[in-house]
Formats: sequence, C-alpha cells, structure tokens
Amino acid sequence: MSSDQDGPARPIADATRVVSAGRRPEWTQGIVNPPVWRASTHLYNSVAELRTAGGRDTHHRLFYGRRGGPTQWSLAEALTELEPGAEATFLYPSGVAAIAAALLSVLSPGDELLLVDSAYDPTRSMATGLLKRFGITTRFYDPLVGAGIAELIGDKTRAILMESPGSLTFEVQDVPAIVAAAKARGVTALLDNTWATPLHFRAIEHGVDLSILACTKYIVGHSDVMLGSVTAAPSHWRALREMSLQLGQVASPDDAWLGARGLRTMAVRLAQHQASALKIARWLETRPEVARVLHPALPTCPGHDLFARDFIGASGLFSFVLAGGDDAARIALIDGLDHFGIGFSWGGFESLALPVDPQRYRTATTPRFDGPLVRLQIGLEDPDDLIADLARGLDRFAAARDLSSRP
Ligand SMILES: *Cc1c(COP(=O)(O)O)cnc(C)c1O
Repeated sequence: MSSDQDGPARPIADATRVVSAGRRPEWTQGIVNPPVWRASTHLYNSVAELRTAGGRDTHHRLFYGRRGGPTQWSLAEALTELEPGAEATFLYPSGVAAIAAALLSVLSPGDELLLVDSAYDPTRSMATGLLKRFGITTRFYDPLVGAGIAELIGDKTRAILMESPGSLTFEVQDVPAIVAAAKARGVTALLDNTWATPLHFRAIEHGVDLSILACTKYIVGHSDVMLGSVTAAPSHWRALREMSLQLGQVASPDDAWLGARGLRTMAVRLAQHQASALKIARWLETRPEVARVLHPALPTCPGHDLFARDFIGASGLFSFVLAGGDDAARIALIDGLDHFGIGFSWGGFESLALPVDPQRYRTATTPRFDGPLVRLQIGLEDPDDLIADLARGLDRFAAARDLSSRP
C-alpha cells in the first residue's frame, strides 16, 4: 500500500508496460490477449441508434470496419501508452503507408518538406514521386545538420521528417535541436522511430509531433506481418486521424492481433537484440578486415554523443565497412553465412545480412567509405555462433579481396 510518505509514485517500467498496455477489459472480454474482432458491419438496434452513432465521434466506438474495432484499438492504445505525452495512435497496413498518411496530414500543394538525406529509400521515393506530383517540394538535409536546420527552414517549409539513426549508415540526429528549430517556425516535426522503438527513444517527450513506426520490424518481431503506426502529439492527432480515414487506411484485425502478441515480448527481445548486436559490433571492431563499425553505441558512429545523450538503448541493426575489397569479395562473405538470412527488413528473431550501398541514394551529402558496406540484423541466436559464422565470412572476404588485388 502506498502512503503519503512514499513520495511520487515510481513510474511503471517499460517491461511491465508492454505486458499490460491496451488490455482494457471491454476489449479483452475477460481473456488475456484481446481476441480478433473481425467485422465490416456493426449492427444497430434501431434506425435511431444508427443515426446517433453516425453523428458522434467514432473513436473507440464500433461503427464500421474501416474505423477498426477493439483488436486494432487495443494495439493502438498500447503504442500510445509507450509514448508519454502522446494523444493517440493510428495503425496502417505497412510502415510506408504510415509515412504517407503522416506526411499527407500536414503537407499541402506549395509546401516544402525537409527530409533527412539518410532516409529509408521508399520514403525518398515517396517525396520525389507522389509528393512532387502533388506540388510538394522536398529538400534533403545532412543528418548531422543539428541546429543548422534553422537556416534551411524557409517560408514554404511545413514539415521536417527525421529518421534517427538512418537505417543504412546510422548517423544519429540532434532531434531536440531540430525540434526546437521546427517549433520556432511552426513547422511539424516527424520522426521515423522504427530503429529505437518507443522503448529506447521517447519521441513525443522529445517534442516530436508525429512518431512513425514500421511495426513490421520490432513490434511484430517475427518477420511475418506488415504493419505500421503513427503516434501523435495532442496538437496533431485530429488531422492525422482525419487524413487516415479519408485515405481509407485500416490495418486488419488479424495483423493487429499479431502485432499486439509481438509487443508483449518486445522489451526482452530488444534487450537481447541490443546485447548481442553490441557484442558482435565490438568484436567486428577488433578485426583487421573491418575498416569501421557504424553502430550508434560506438564512438566511431557519427552522432554517437547524441545517442549517449538522448537514447535509452540501442537495437539490433547496424552496419560495418569492409577494409577494401569489391562487391565480389563482399558477396563471398555474405553468400556463405550459415546463420544469417539474405533479405530485406529486420526486427525479427532471425539474423540477416545485406549488402548496402547508401552512396547511391544520397543527394545532399556524399559519405565516403573505405570499402563496401554490410548491414547486419542481429537476431536472437547465440551471439557466439554468429561471431564464429562471421569470422569464417571475413576469412572468405579477405581471401577474395587479396586474390583480386594481386598484380
Ligand atoms: C521497413 C522500414 C519502413 C517501412 O516499413 P514497411 O512496413 O516495410 O512498409 C520504414 N522505415 C524504416 C526505417 C524501415 O526500416
């Protein structure tokens, strides 16, 4: 029992929160996990009831399937609970759909978007394709711009979309400085928070207006569902929900159910992803075949000081730069790996290795590397098995590199 002498209540820890969040009794109906409420049509008892329902705010009221039901509301509310200061969350059938709805809820023809140069490539394509077609221009900025963003904000700038760290090159951005510059000019601050998740970076608390997640990654955690979310600050919720409904966005109850199922174990999964990835990143740093490791928790990563200042923790995705060699030598490393799948995406329980060439996408900055890059998603396998696998891979890489560079 608490008493007045106890002082302020201890905040609930994240591991506890992910277990309890969103489980309202009226949505769970007396069982542990909210069931899958599959529905298009909600039935009313009378025409009068139907008419009243239509005239009311339908948030968290059964109305019609496109507006979701308890399964989606439960996951959305859980994600909101993980972002202190947030108003509410809308779910989408993918992370890219979430990004589209968030951007369209704040941008109109004639507006300008500032987009980080290290952004996820489909986000870039959306800006240079869809947004451009509708008269919205985009300016790309250096992820290390910090408070210098103020000089890029013009009369037409309406939104800044950050992604911190970038998911190929891992530069950490000065989110508080960028948010402060945005607020001073009435510009909306959006953040793709997929890498850190709300458990390791509190986006809304840091002043972000719209926090975007590809739930496909760590929320789902099992590489079997596409899902996205946007969590809004109170000032931005109404416009976000309105735009999302107009776009006809709805995440299926089955996918939301799997997302909620993944969320319950996310705190322990993330802790393990973080520990294993750091162990492997530090081991890679000791290897002569590796020129540089790009992991925000290591001092060699651009923006590491900001990571140390602002983040609660890391996750399991990072890159490393090989010491010389060409694409063929990189392929020799990746193709022979036993415990790493070769594929896009990340955040699942299984490890992945991917050749990445971020230089190809950049327009505002030209990062230089001493060799090809490999991105690793560290899964839940024993990290020592992964290290042994990578050691054999680096041997293959060195053999291929040295053979091809022989005169
Ligand atoms: C995967 C990803 C997305 C897109 O999510 P989907 O669910 O695949 O559409 C957005 N941002 C980042 C950083 C991602 O890694």
